[in-house]
Amino acid sequence: MAERYTLGHIAFDAYNDDRGGVNFRGEKTPPWQELTPEIRGAWEASAIATGKALAGKTRPLPLYRCKECGRKWLSVLSLLAIHDGGSRCPQCGAENEGA
Ligand SMILES: [Zn+2]
Repeated sequence: MAERYTLGHIAFDAYNDDRGGVNFRGEKTPPWQELTPEIRGAWEASAIATGKALAGKTRPLPLYRCKECGRKWLSVLSLLAIHDGGSRCPQCGAENEGA
């Protein structure tokens, strides 16, 4: 199955593109899949805050909420109002129903 990107993952990739793949200490950053669940969750929280700023108060964001751990995130497809039939939680990896 092709991996479904979350906005947190896209933000992380953009950070690495901009920083040349190194963190603030100059050390090579690990791939998204090797980040701890807590750090992936923090990237999702960052993406949600950006999404809220973009959407303003005009419409609700299509947030996912994990049935297992409660983490919230945005999927790219759901943000574009394309039903994607579910999304994998970036924190615990559980499959969830579509938003
Ligand atoms: Zn979860």
